[in-house]
Amino acid sequence: MRKDIHPKAYTTGVVCSTCGTVWDVRSSRENLRVDICSNCHPFFTGEQRIVDTAGQVDRFMKRLANSQERQADQQRRKAKAEEPPEKKKSLLKEIYGDEA
Ligand SMILES: [Zn+2]
Repeated sequence: MRKDIHPKAYTTGVVCSTCGTVWDVRSSRENLRVDICSNCHPFFTGEQRIVDTAGQVDRFMKRLANSQERQADQQRRKAKAEEPPEKKKSLLKEIYGDEA
């Protein structure tokens, strides 16, 4: 091995920030963290669970609610626009009543 070209290897723990499991591994980095691991990922647990670490599901639900609201508003406006306008009484009938 040549001298001074190899990184320092550590025995460090990989920590899962979701479930807190720690594995010991050899790595050139210290203090490794992962968002999800095989101990808690739904694929491995078989659980039907949504892993939402960045609030993406909440953001999607907000966007969905906004979009549905906007669509309902558009439909209301469209229905109102298609409604026939109120028929105005003719000016003659207004002045002379029904005799004219
Ligand atoms: Zn985990």
